[in-house]
Amino acid sequence: MHQCQAGDGEGGQRDFRFRKSRFPSDPRRNQKPSDDRQRPMTTIRPDRLFEQLHAAYGPQYWWPAKSPFAMMVGAILVQNTAWAGAARAVDRLEDAGFLHPAAIRPLEEETLWELIRPAGYFRVKAKRLRALCTFLQGFDDDLDRLFALETPRLREALLGVNGVGEETADSILCYGAKRAIFVADAYTRRLFHRLHWVEEKAGYGEMQSLVQTRMPGNQAQLGEFHALIVRHGKHHCRAKPVCRECPVSGCPAMRAPPQGLPEASAQ
Ligand code: SF4
Repeated sequence: MHQCQAGDGEGGQRDFRFRKSRFPSDPRRNQKPSDDRQRPMTTIRPDRLFEQLHAAYGPQYWWPAKSPFAMMVGAILVQNTAWAGAARAVDRLEDAGFLHPAAIRPLEEETLWELIRPAGYFRVKAKRLRALCTFLQGFDDDLDRLFALETPRLREALLGVNGVGEETADSILCYGAKRAIFVADAYTRRLFHRLHWVEEKAGYGEMQSLVQTRMPGNQAQLGEFHALIVRHGKHHCRAKPVCRECPVSGCPAMRAPPQGLPEASAQ
């Protein structure tokens, strides 16, 4: 496993207190009563959720990568698979001396397949990796040049790369380019739905803006929040939730245990 890099790249303890939100404390305040008359109200706020998860699980030291390029490669390879497989594939690329965009571009297709096979879906991911490397060629493979772009332009540029969706683009923005962006995913949707913050099929942007408007934080805080939600989604708030001993107080499920919801993606 790679040496982990946490949040803003600084070691040691960080101050994870969030700025006071400009918004009302109850995220459901403006909902119509008819939307959820049957559901018990949640009392927890995003900043409190963060504090509880952080107290329970401690710092997560995301993203585990030795370099921004390794981080970007990992963000592609972890799509629809567990991190262990993606990490093995990144290690194999590095051990073979190919963990650089200029080294990946000319690689034979079969060679690249073989190197990243542990990540699964290796044919699709090889194409995506190559697309990323071709994209980086436009910046002379200089990530400092790429990351010098303003956040909206950088996000738009990343979203233009084949295989880079919102979650992958925002992961790169947050953990690679160190921007204060909250990354949402299937674990986020499941947890936020169970907390009655969003509907079951909530869109990515809705979950992201819920956090970024109600809990404005810096890159380290928002990056840590995403990592903690993933950890919580794997340990307690699973498809079949393990509510007993859950560190989240104020969850409506404590009063009415939820039925199992669809399994979240393993990312
Ligand atoms: S109480 Fe259950 S449903 Fe609520 S956050 Fe904890 S594990 Fe998830």
